[in-house]
Amino acid sequence: MTPDLTARAAPLRMRPRAMVPADPRLPREAPAGTEAVVVGGGIAGVSAAVVLAERGVAVTLLEAAPTLGGRLGAWPHTLPDGAEQVVEHGFHAFFRHYHTWRALLRRIDPELGFLRPVGGYPVISRQWPAEDLTGLPTAPPLNLLALFARSPSLGLRDLLRSDQALAAELLAYDRTRTTAIFDEVPAARFLAALGMSDRAQAMLFEAFARSFFADPGVLSAAELIAMFHYYFLGNPDGIGFDAPAADYLTAIWQPFAAYLEKHGAEIRRGTPARALAPAAAHGWRVEVDGGSVTTRHLVLATEPPALRALLAASPQVAEVAPRLAAKAAALAVAPPFAVTRLWLGRDVAPERATFNAVSREPTLDSVTVYSRLERPSAEWAARTGGSVVELHSYACTAPDADTATTRMRAELAALWPETAQAEVVHLQQRLEATAPTFPPGGAGSRLAVTGEGRGVRVAGDHVDTPFLTGLMERAAVSGVLAANDVLAEVGAGPEEIRGGPQRGLLAGLLPRRR
Ligand SMILES: Cc1cc2nc3c(=O)[nH]c(=O)nc-3n(C[C@H](O)[C@H](O)[C@H](O)COP(=O)(O)OP(=O)(O)OC[C@H]3O[C@@H](n4cnc5c(N)ncnc54)[C@H](O)[C@@H]3O)c2cc1C
Repeated sequence: MTPDLTARAAPLRMRPRAMVPADPRLPREAPAGTEAVVVGGGIAGVSAAVVLAERGVAVTLLEAAPTLGGRLGAWPHTLPDGAEQVVEHGFHAFFRHYHTWRALLRRIDPELGFLRPVGGYPVISRQWPAEDLTGLPTAPPLNLLALFARSPSLGLRDLLRSDQALAAELLAYDRTRTTAIFDEVPAARFLAALGMSDRAQAMLFEAFARSFFADPGVLSAAELIAMFHYYFLGNPDGIGFDAPAADYLTAIWQPFAAYLEKHGAEIRRGTPARALAPAAAHGWRVEVDGGSVTTRHLVLATEPPALRALLAASPQVAEVAPRLAAKAAALAVAPPFAVTRLWLGRDVAPERATFNAVSREPTLDSVTVYSRLERPSAEWAARTGGSVVELHSYACTAPDADTATTRMRAELAALWPETAQAEVVHLQQRLEATAPTFPPGGAGSRLAVTGEGRGVRVAGDHVDTPFLTGLMERAAVSGVLAANDVLAEVGAGPEEIRGGPQRGLLAGLLPRRR
């Protein structure tokens, strides 16, 4: 079934609906003379900038790096053989229930023609046969029952010996209840208490938990339950995803830049905001190298450590926005993630899937065969007889990128022996700590889009959104919410935001827990 048909065939309660409805009684356009400054040109900042610029707001977008995109960024790179390639920050799965991010991408490609289904993606491990979670029914409890019926990792014994009352909490996601009961519980403790076999834990839950850039021991169980609902149990599109068939610079960031400029936005690349200070008339002054910009409407859309550093360099902010200053100072940053792209002298075995989640390796968390996914990599592989493979580690303990690559290569060789002797023609690697994390007990201290300080909005995948979102979709939704708050202040109508079911099938039906 195509993604659209899958969603349409879903039961009524599973269908996407307006979380923020448009208001046709309010003007679409912002009053003439409205301006805004957006700091950070990743998904969150560009999402805010697109909505504001479309409504006639004069947007200045400040991006520290030479290219837009942040953690989804991409830039040109010359291989040793002279081949020009665009390399990405790292492979991304574009899930089909990312309604807001996809609506924004439709501005630059109405048919989303640059996205291709990736097909089934297995969880692979040295210990157990691969497990593929795609293609399950889309509605709970059928998806959960089908998982039990189909998964070699989950047997009747798991069902019988599991703590069924606790397992029911997975089907009973409700923001208030789930946060109240499970925010302070580490995800690892919750998973252990479920009483499932080691294999079921490893193959079904741990790989999933680590894709949120944390070991289950330091991730809040409330966030894990929320994400399990968002990506699996409450997702009418199943957990299928698509990926761009072209590099992200060509497919996403160049078109967004052209779109923004067509709508009058000024994009200042290579221009980090150095400090913020309150300005006259409830405005803000943003210091940049060699000058400053002042604005009435400020959107801060940087990654967590950059926000912490920006606020640390801005002591006056605490005078007018003490909550913002305090929360930014305490922002939690995930351990580093490692991304290594290898241009190999030979192909991997034909049966290898394009995207593979990896379970129970100390370092390696996923493997993507880029030469089966993206045109420029496929062309390079066809010309040389090689392959392009990308390795990710989401909560990496290696001290540096070289060590991370060495460890991930050794673990890959154990999983895919054909790579052990493959010549590495070229490699690109990074080890970087820029992702947010959601530790136990942290729900109350997350930054919200609005209400942290007058005239300032915060966007990014670390921000708490009032309804369920994750990763890229959280970045996009927070950006649109930030833009909506600016539009509300100047009397223009909000941008519609759609979302899926916000509560689990059993929400409201479980007895109280102490
Ligand atoms: C390896 C990896 C794999 C991932 N895979 C997936 C996936 O499969 N699916 C998914 O949904 N998500 C995935 N993600 C998460 C996704 O990349 C992020 O959720 C999303 O890109 C965050 O966007 P953002 O705009 O919040 O932050 P960022 O992308 O970090 O953007 C912040 C921007 O602010 C800029 N900036 C920082 N400081 C300043 C300053 N002082 N002045 C001006 N600009 C500044 C930065 O340069 C950057 O461009 C993955 C992330 C990584 C790292």
